Amino acid sequence: MEQLNQVLLRDDIRVGADLDAWLARGGGEGLAKALQDPGAIIAEIADADLRGMGGAGFATHRKWMPVAAAREGDKYIICNGNEDEPGTFKDRFLLEHTPHQVIEGALIAAVATRANHVILYVNPHQPLCLAATRQAAQQWQPHPLFVAVERLVGGPVALRVVPSSGLYIGGEETAVIASVEGGFPFPRRKPPFPAEVGVHGAPTIVNNTETLAHVPGILRHGAQWYRDLGIGNAAGTKLYSLSGDVLHPGLYELPMGTSLASLVFQYGGGMLLGKEFKAVFTGGPSNTLLTKRDLDVALDFDSVRQRRSRLGTGAMIVVSEGTSIVRKVAEYVSFFAQGSCGQCPPCKGGTFQLMRLLNRLDTGRAVRADLEALENLCRILPGSGRCGLIDGAVTVVESSVNQFREEYEALLMG
Ligand code: SF4
Repeated sequence: MEQLNQVLLRDDIRVGADLDAWLARGGGEGLAKALQDPGAIIAEIADADLRGMGGAGFATHRKWMPVAAAREGDKYIICNGNEDEPGTFKDRFLLEHTPHQVIEGALIAAVATRANHVILYVNPHQPLCLAATRQAAQQWQPHPLFVAVERLVGGPVALRVVPSSGLYIGGEETAVIASVEGGFPFPRRKPPFPAEVGVHGAPTIVNNTETLAHVPGILRHGAQWYRDLGIGNAAGTKLYSLSGDVLHPGLYELPMGTSLASLVFQYGGGMLLGKEFKAVFTGGPSNTLLTKRDLDVALDFDSVRQRRSRLGTGAMIVVSEGTSIVRKVAEYVSFFAQGSCGQCPPCKGGTFQLMRLLNRLDTGRAVRADLEALENLCRILPGSGRCGLIDGAVTVVESSVNQFREEYEALLMG
C-alpha cells in the first residue's frame, strides 16, 4: 500500500531509542536551525499552520506565544502521551518507534519559549513506549545539541519522563498538570489556561505527542514545505488510526485533507466481508457520527467541523451495515461513565444514566419514556462539567439518535 508524503512514519526514521541512528537520518537538523534563530521559530510554526493533533485542532503557535512572552522563571513543556481513547493508537506508535523525533520537537518548543522543564508524560499501560521514551531521553542529555539548548535557555533544562495516570481523563490538559504535580488527575475549569497557570503555577504548554513530532520537520524543511504536504487549504500530514469493519485497519499517515472515502476504501481496503459502509465514529467516539453522505468529507479540522463533527485525534472507527449503532454507542458511553472522575455530579450521574438507558434500549427492555429520558439528558447535560467528557458522551448519543432514530425506535417495547 502506497503511503504518500510520509513525514512521521518513514521506515528509515523508525529507529527506536537510538539517537545516533536518528541523527544520521537528518534528525537534529530542525533543532540546530531553531538554535540559530530562536526568535523565528514561532512564526515558522504559525506559517506552517500546525494544529494540535490531540483533539481540538487549536493552532500550536497560539499555545506557544503566551509562554514565550511570559516573565523569566520556570516554564514547562509537556508532551502529552497519555493516549487512552478507544480507537486511537498513534502516539504510542510514535513514542515507541521514533521517540527522538518527539523529544526534538519538545526541545524546539523549549528553545522557542525558553522553557527549563521538558516533561514526557507517557501512559504506563504501554510499557514498550515508556521504556523507549526513557531510554531516548537519557541519550539526549549529554548530547551537544541538548547542551546548546541549556545554554540558550540560560540554565539547566530538566528533561524528565513522567508516567501518566493511565486514566482516560488523565489526558485532559489541566488533568495532565495536576498529575505532573503529583496529584490525582482532576480536570479543572479554564480559564486560567495552562499558559497562564500551569505546573506549580508556572506557564505551561501541553502539546499532544503527534503535534510535537511534526515540529522538527517544519524547522528543518520550512513552513511552505509542510503546508504543501496537505490537500487544498489543509497543511501537513495526519496520522489516522483506522479501525473497525475495514479490511486493513492500521495507522496511516496521509496528507491532511484526505477524504474519508479514500481512507476507508483506498487505504483501508474497503469494508470487511464486502459489507456496506454505515458510519464512522470520528476522532475517538466523542463526536458527531459521520455517515454515508459524509464519505466525501476532507479529513481536516475545518472540513470536518463544517459537517458539525470534529477530526479530534484522527481516529476513525468504521461501522458496517448490520452493526447495531445503539450497542456501539452504549459501549462507548460505558467507557465514559467509567472514565468520569466524579467531581461534577451531572457528569457522574449523567453518564451513568445515559449508560443505563442505552443498555435498556440495546436489550429490548426500553419503552418510549426511556428514549425521551435519553433525549432529555442530552438537552440538560452539556456544559455541566469542568471538562469536555460529559459533552463528548452527550454528543455521540445525540448524534446517533438524530441520525439513526429508526434503530432506536425499532428497539422499543410495545
Ligand atoms: Fe470529571 Fe466529568 Fe467533571 Fe470532567 S466533567 S471534571 S470527567 S466529573
